[in-house]
Amino acid sequence: MFDTHCHLNFKRFKKNVDEVISRALKAGITHIVIPGTDVKQSQKAVEVAQKHDQFYAAVGIHPHHAFELMTNDQLQMTSELDEIEKLISHPKVVAIGEVGMDKHVYENTKYSEYAVDERFIETQRELFRRHIELAIKHNKSLILHNREATDELVSILNNSWDAKLEHQTVLHCCEADERLLAIAKDHNMFIGVDGDVTFDVSKQEFIKKVPIDMLVLETDSPFILPEPLLSQKKYPNEPAHLTYIAQSVAHIKGLTVEEVTRITTENGKRLFQIE
Ligand SMILES: [Zn+2]
Ligand SMILES: [Zn+2]
Repeated sequence: MFDTHCHLNFKRFKKNVDEVISRALKAGITHIVIPGTDVKQSQKAVEVAQKHDQFYAAVGIHPHHAFELMTNDQLQMTSELDEIEKLISHPKVVAIGEVGMDKHVYENTKYSEYAVDERFIETQRELFRRHIELAIKHNKSLILHNREATDELVSILNNSWDAKLEHQTVLHCCEADERLLAIAKDHNMFIGVDGDVTFDVSKQEFIKKVPIDMLVLETDSPFILPEPLLSQKKYPNEPAHLTYIAQSVAHIKGLTVEEVTRITTENGKRLFQIE
């Protein structure tokens, strides 16, 4: 099984990352991609990816962290993107991510002045465009994060899209929005499905409509704990729990878990250009 999106680079796993990895391998997880969310976490993603032959990293700055880059000149954004670009040549780096647009109003954020206003969104747009350029320039895959910002995301994708990105882009943790499915079909993107598919009826209805050859599985660990673990409050989520997502997708699609595992693993390899 391929966990195409989990944050083993996060502090949450600092003390037990080796145990979490050994539980993942025991559960049948064969491949993992660890996405970055800022420069430091991208470096950490590369470091953790070196723990196993079939672990890989993505590097990039999450739209939420565009908040730090809202300066009047663009020097800071440029210098951080230079750091990201330096990491791209590392053999473990398969993608730019996670990058995109996010208009969700977060309650727990480290930014004291945090507000989702036009200045913040404009900074996100600029940061997102520049990440897309990096993916095209270096022929890397692209992990898209979108939360409550579909219009913004779609308009930037339409303007910055390059045919090179086809079959190499994923709408990670894709919201249950038919417009996103249409865009994904038009541009040959993959759709990432997470633990909420085990309990969220609108997600289940959405996944029913997504062709299996467009689907990749992801835990988004340490977030989005699947059922029944959610009711049991077994935080945090970890890659071994991908099995619950595979079972849920198999049930929804009328396939066996083995079929879902085989097809989504092949999809993940194609997405990230992995042999
Ligand atoms: Zn995300
Ligand atoms: Zn993520």
